Amino acid sequence: MDSAEGRKHGRLDEKSKLLRKSGPDLCVRCGSCKALCPTNIEFTNEGMSARGRIALLKKLFNKEIDPSDVLDERIFSCLLCGACNTLCPLGISVTDAVYEGRVKLGSRKRHWLFRMGMKYAFGDTTRAFNILKFLDNAGLTRSLSWVQPFKALKEMRADIPKTRLRSAATVYKVPNPKGRIAIFTGCTVDFLYPAMGLSLIHTLNSLDYEVVMPKGEVCCGAPLLGAGLREEAIMLAEKNLNAFKKLQAEAVISLCPTCTHFIRDEYIKLTGEGIDNAADISAFLCDESLTATLVRPEEHPGNIIYHDPCHSINYLGLKDEPRRLLKALGFGLIEPADRGCCGLGGTVRLMHGNISRTLLERRIESFHAAGDAETPEMIVTSCPNCVLQLSSRIKDRPVKHIIEIIAANMKRRS
Ligand code: SF4
Ligand code: SF4
Repeated sequence: MDSAEGRKHGRLDEKSKLLRKSGPDLCVRCGSCKALCPTNIEFTNEGMSARGRIALLKKLFNKEIDPSDVLDERIFSCLLCGACNTLCPLGISVTDAVYEGRVKLGSRKRHWLFRMGMKYAFGDTTRAFNILKFLDNAGLTRSLSWVQPFKALKEMRADIPKTRLRSAATVYKVPNPKGRIAIFTGCTVDFLYPAMGLSLIHTLNSLDYEVVMPKGEVCCGAPLLGAGLREEAIMLAEKNLNAFKKLQAEAVISLCPTCTHFIRDEYIKLTGEGIDNAADISAFLCDESLTATLVRPEEHPGNIIYHDPCHSINYLGLKDEPRRLLKALGFGLIEPADRGCCGLGGTVRLMHGNISRTLLERRIESFHAAGDAETPEMIVTSCPNCVLQLSSRIKDRPVKHIIEIIAANMKRRS
């Protein structure tokens, strides 16, 4: 089955499926992938490392072991951060194998309630948001806080805004636009942080771009694939491809690096076609020579810690771009000693809250070690999910998405 046919049938491209399964067979157990694996660093347990997971998946795919609860924990506690992929000298994608393993393990009976909940919530996020808002208005979300996702929302102290971003206008015009940019909003910005989305719109409009948010956008599908629900993720991919391909936009920009990676790169594996002009906001703004349109404050604006989102650095390869933008605004950058994960890891926060919280504490410790003497004004990152996770614990200074800093310092291009 070729890619187009694969897409027509709503199935993973056969070549991609084979690659995902055959990756573990190629492993020579060198262990390079363990060096930056957050669960390996924290738990020093081979089964919780990238190499351990690859070894277990090889046995699972070759039917040498059966699915089990322990195996579930090893595979579903992977953060899908992608650090391992960047280190394997043979180019094996550990995360592709993890996705494949989750599809296999996810069909176990013990996951049926979780799968149903994920399907219901992410299959139609508008419906889920409306229910959540109704329960919140009725004061019921607190009394339901023993059940996911209310538990996670309570732990993360996430407020549900009255209005989502995409209930507002869908085209933001400017006089004599120099081009048209589409926004892939992503669920976290759309439902939890609409102000971030407005900052993005303001920034793009200030650069003389007309901005469009198509009505047909749905969840990118990453949470569903992460939960082992591949067919459901494919259905969402199909909808987004239909909504964005016909827009004739110069770029599809997202504030969420997970969404950007997923709609550009994972969609190809799922459907044979990706949104190939999808771009991260920092990369796009650097290409736009944005530094010429930023207002650098007269006084030193202070020091900040920049936290690299895993999907940004490991999948999109972005390291210098956000730093260049922040330096152009005069900020002093404080670098933590390692490039650790915030611990959110998509479904890991829902399924393995203890692991997620442990990794969050480790990350905050690394901020303290790097920044205490230099008193950072704030923590800045490029992912709304990292903002959500980090701000659940950091209360003594703001945690911001880079777009909020940029939008506050734009001057309109003449
Ligand atoms: S994706 Fe991250 S957590 Fe998962 S095995 Fe690789 S490095 Fe470890
Ligand atoms: S780096 Fe690659 S070859 Fe080495 S253990 Fe990890 S997956 Fe196997």
